[in-house]
Amino acid sequence: MGDILNLIAEDMKVRGLSKVLKIELIVGDLSNAMPDALEMAFEIHKAMKSPILDESSELVIIREEARAKCVFCGHEYTPDNRVALCPNCGMPGGKIISGETLKVLSYEGS
Ligand SMILES: [Zn+2]
Repeated sequence: MGDILNLIAEDMKVRGLSKVLKIELIVGDLSNAMPDALEMAFEIHKAMKSPILDESSELVIIREEARAKCVFCGHEYTPDNRVALCPNCGMPGGKIISGETLKVLSYEGS
């Protein structure tokens, strides 16, 4: 969360903004980030008087579903982990096509 806020702070400097109103964050189900932990970290940064956050700053987390495509049969499925077996052919050939994202979709500042 600190890295994300640092990136936003840099961008805000360029745009001449000083406060974050809202951050929209995409968090994939297979990214190593837990939404609860991100929200907690955000609250901690708010409480620690991060210069770009105040009480009205809002974090919106958008979950990205995990999807994999089997390289053997082309079947698309929802893997429960990175090495899930294809439910169609049973081969461990799933290529992750979504769910690993962790990025800022957009933010609003003033
Ligand atoms: Zn398959």
